[in-house]
Amino acid sequence: MLTVENLRARYGRIEVLHGIDLTVNSGEIVTVVGANGAGKTTLLRCLSGIQPITDGRVVFRGETYVTTPPHKRLRHGLAHSPEGRQIFTNLSVEENLRLGAFLYDDDRVARDMDEAFALFPVLREKRNLAAGGLSGGQQQMLAIARALMGRPACLLLDEPSMGLAPLLVQQIFDVVTGLKALGVTVLLVEQNAFGALKVADRGYVMETGRIAMEGPAEALIADPRIREAYLGI
Ligand code: ATP
Repeated sequence: MLTVENLRARYGRIEVLHGIDLTVNSGEIVTVVGANGAGKTTLLRCLSGIQPITDGRVVFRGETYVTTPPHKRLRHGLAHSPEGRQIFTNLSVEENLRLGAFLYDDDRVARDMDEAFALFPVLREKRNLAAGGLSGGQQQMLAIARALMGRPACLLLDEPSMGLAPLLVQQIFDVVTGLKALGVTVLLVEQNAFGALKVADRGYVMETGRIAMEGPAEALIADPRIREAYLGI
């Protein structure tokens, strides 16, 4: 579904992605784990088109993206739930969801909103409240629900567990597993390597802008180098 070939990106004169290759097959949960600053967020920004790339290409559902703008990628089914959630705290839950569906007509918005509320019942209860009043976990659910408006084929999900209490972290990883059951392919970026590898089918380990290791998630969890460097085991 998604292939990344030799992708390079820079901030000013400093290259931060040095030729990334990865693939995500339809129906998979694939995770990219790595330390703070490894380039995971930049990678997702390049995939959704927010960040320009300097070399390489992205192929999504048979279309090649080099300079394709983000809204075209979204229309084609590639959605992005960004780092830090980026919800509009002064707007209501429902208004946030509507913004996630800015490309679509009213019928579709109504249907997708119903689906979002079925997936996250707490958002239905709070649909008219300001998003800033939600708990951290609920805000993360809203960020995911907003990205799911329009039923993307693939969700780029950046650090959904960030800043959440352990119980909520588990809830969010359960949500990610649930997305797979809904038929959404997920590329999950996480610093919480253990949690992410536990829900993923396959994983990539990123170190300073390069893929250092890749493999089935179970094999990565069992690998002594990963256990020592990323899992604290
Ligand atoms: P984190 O988990 O903290 O988001 P990350 O693995 O996602 O880390 P990136 O945020 O992609 O890493 O950062 C990769 C590198 O690019 C880091 O060295 C970072 O300092 C640098 N960087 C990120 N954003 C910018 C920016 N807007 N301008 C300049 N350098 C940046």
